[in-house]
Amino acid sequence: MSNIIDGKKKAEQVRADIAREVAALLAAGKPRPGLAVVLVGEDPASQVYVRNKVRQSEEVGFHSIEHRLPADASQQQVLELVQHLNRDPAVNGILVQLPLPKHIDQAPIIEAIHPAKDVDGLTTVNAGLLTNGQQGLVPCTPLGCILLLRDVVPSFAGLNAVVLGRSILVGKPVASLLLAENCTVTIAHSRTRELAEVCRAADILVAAVGRPKMVQGDWVKPGAIVIDVGINRVQDGDKSRLVGDVDFEAAAKVAGAITPVPGGVGPMTIACLLANTLTAAKRQFGGN
Ligand code: NDP
Repeated sequence: MSNIIDGKKKAEQVRADIAREVAALLAAGKPRPGLAVVLVGEDPASQVYVRNKVRQSEEVGFHSIEHRLPADASQQQVLELVQHLNRDPAVNGILVQLPLPKHIDQAPIIEAIHPAKDVDGLTTVNAGLLTNGQQGLVPCTPLGCILLLRDVVPSFAGLNAVVLGRSILVGKPVASLLLAENCTVTIAHSRTRELAEVCRAADILVAAVGRPKMVQGDWVKPGAIVIDVGINRVQDGDKSRLVGDVDFEAAAKVAGAITPVPGGVGPMTIACLLANTLTAAKRQFGGN
């Protein structure tokens, strides 16, 4: 199908552009951008994510710093590590892999990250800057959605965008970014009435609910652009597989363009983490 948005290919392009920019920075005598990743505990999924982040940041030419703390590390230990990384001039971006172990209060750890190094865009300062339309660092998955959309939407101005989901991580920042692109934005959530009808009014539909295949084919306006953020593991016979929040087969028949799961938004998230690290580094180096 020609209307499938290839997130894997786009992510490769983003990484190639970053690698080129890093080479240019180094050639201009600037330091090598540094990304520090903090992993607390041994959650298997987090270990895989961290490994991928470290590998991809090395591939684009960043200085990659990995800090592993034991599962029983104290709040104070994690906090002190973040404060140390805030002060380290070789570190331009800090990522604390979430979720943190249950005994750790996540919010103060995130807030402790210096906003200029907050490459996940999760501090209150960066959320506020985004809401106010000012320059900060934008959460990675929402940034990925916008980069994918820019390739298929010639002009955003005046389009009806519906964002399904209002999380701090995805829904709210995606809505702010679409508003900044001059869309007319509706944020729908679990209390929204006539959800199917709300979705059918969308020229751009972004689904970030965490409910497998919730968005049916007849919720999609013919020709609409559908961005499926959902990653849901479902049982399929004796195997499990990943599906999105959208019934892909049905929606693809009516959508103008649609992201698959996997291979859509997912690959863009790490690419945008790298993009944010480069942005943060350039701002810290000055002259940008
Ligand atoms: P959250 O659980 O934090 O938020 C889900 C949102 O969906 C909430 O706002 C909730 O509404 C809304 N919602 C839940 N059920 C319904 C319903 N039946 N009808 C309407 N709205 C509903 O999830 P996240 O935003 O963190 O993640 C969403 C999905 O995106 C997940 O599948 C997650 O795995 C995936 N994800 C993918 C990433 C990627 O890299 N591709 C990165 C991050 C997330 P309410 O607020 O009213 O409860």
